[in-house]
Amino acid sequence: MITLRQRAAAILRSAGWELPPLPVTWSPRMIRCAGLFVVEHDLRGRAHPEIRLSIPLLRRRDWPWPQTVCGVNCRNPEQVQERILEHELIHYKLWSDRESDWGHTERFRRLALDQFGHQSVTHGIGAEEG
Ligand SMILES: [Zn+2]
Repeated sequence: MITLRQRAAAILRSAGWELPPLPVTWSPRMIRCAGLFVVEHDLRGRAHPEIRLSIPLLRRRDWPWPQTVCGVNCRNPEQVQERILEHELIHYKLWSDRESDWGHTERFRRLALDQFGHQSVTHGIGAEEG
């Protein structure tokens, strides 16, 4: 059984990004956004980056296939999850590189295209983009 964290680590490796693997968690409460990169700070001010995925949006199997996610055709839920993970890991990469903006910037778009072939900087799933 390959965990989401291991899949994220494999994506980081294949992209050649030497970043520590981060927690990837499923959230039952995210209903508008398929994936989210969040950084929480503990009481000592230490940053804890994390990726959250939406159970309601990503675990459903009743979609018509293929689905376009990040501008890429996906044929099953596993491929959708993989594209969302790649997308959120780009946010992680920009944050780790101490970019002032780790949103959907020009550098984000370029990394998404060059590393993963994403044609779009939005997921295309859910109403809100993370
Ligand atoms: Zn995003």
